[in-house]
Amino acid sequence: MFESSAAVSRRQFISRAGKFSALYSLAGAIPLNAMAAAIPDDPRIAPTPVVNAGFASVRKIGDGLYATISDPSKGFTTTCNGGFLFGKDAALLIEGFVTPAGAAFQMETLRRVSQVPAAGAMDTHYHFDHSMGNSFYGANGIQLWGHAAVAQRITESYAPMQGADRATFLARYENRVKDAKTELQRQHAQSDLTAVGTLFDLANKSALTLPNRPLDPAKLPLQVDLGHFPIVIEYYPGHSGTDLIVRAPEQKVVYTGDLIFNGRFPACYDEMATISGWRATLKTFASWDKDTLFVPGHGPICGQEGVQHLREVFDDIAEQADKLYKSGVPVAEAVDRYVIPDKFMGMEVWAWGFCIGSAITKLYSEWQ
Ligand SMILES: [Zn+2]
Repeated sequence: MFESSAAVSRRQFISRAGKFSALYSLAGAIPLNAMAAAIPDDPRIAPTPVVNAGFASVRKIGDGLYATISDPSKGFTTTCNGGFLFGKDAALLIEGFVTPAGAAFQMETLRRVSQVPAAGAMDTHYHFDHSMGNSFYGANGIQLWGHAAVAQRITESYAPMQGADRATFLARYENRVKDAKTELQRQHAQSDLTAVGTLFDLANKSALTLPNRPLDPAKLPLQVDLGHFPIVIEYYPGHSGTDLIVRAPEQKVVYTGDLIFNGRFPACYDEMATISGWRATLKTFASWDKDTLFVPGHGPICGQEGVQHLREVFDDIAEQADKLYKSGVPVAEAVDRYVIPDKFMGMEVWAWGFCIGSAITKLYSEWQ
């Protein structure tokens, strides 16, 4: 699935344009769409989507199970993946997405295939691209579920941006671009500046909406009865400290949120992200049935090969970071020294410092 013709042309483009310019175009204007187009060959996945809005398509992936897969190259209405599950009594929607229009799109799609009431909508974690559209659910009386810390993390992370002076807020990131000692460092810093600028603008046009059904991780796993097969909500460490997954064990389908990035470098910037925790979580996912279908937070639906691929990405970052660490390279320098190997060259880096740089920083602090 990593070898689609679009991926090949992507690689050709990269080799023509030079590694770094191509990579940084990915942080903004030209997101990778090749991966979003690749659909695994699995009889559970409907070949034709229920709806394809360009920015996202919704596809049946099991009995009462649907996946919303975003294609950010065609627009940022949803940006992350999500989906919904329903039985004869109720439905559970997954993700608030990055805009209320994204959440509305998913709700409208649910209504094309089922009229059962929505028991709730769940943010897999608090990050903006999964929660800035929550207000749609609030306005429509749909209970919003999330890890118990989501409300606080949304408030602490995004409220300070609202009404703040943009230039002041971005100054730290602007300075990193200005003060860069090498062209490589400048490009890395620029990708972070672009990402923070986008986030700042989003926070200033979004109404923050907090879960009104906090799920205490100490009381998980939670069995949810939608009037069909059993589904279960579980907590796993790794990406944000608020990461919940939804599993339909009988159908071997798992909605993982950002605990899986498929075909993209993982975002490791969160203060509660833990690389060792995340790698342990992926080891657990890898121990599940070989026919498990995963709906990742970003990128196409995958099987166990997607888990394996992300584990290899972490292995490679850790291996390169370990060499730098053992040869005494300070962390401030090490963050820019990771070299994307050829085997990962088609993969998107959303923002260097928020993905690769932060992974290296966290590994260094785990080793110290
Ligand atoms: Zn995230």
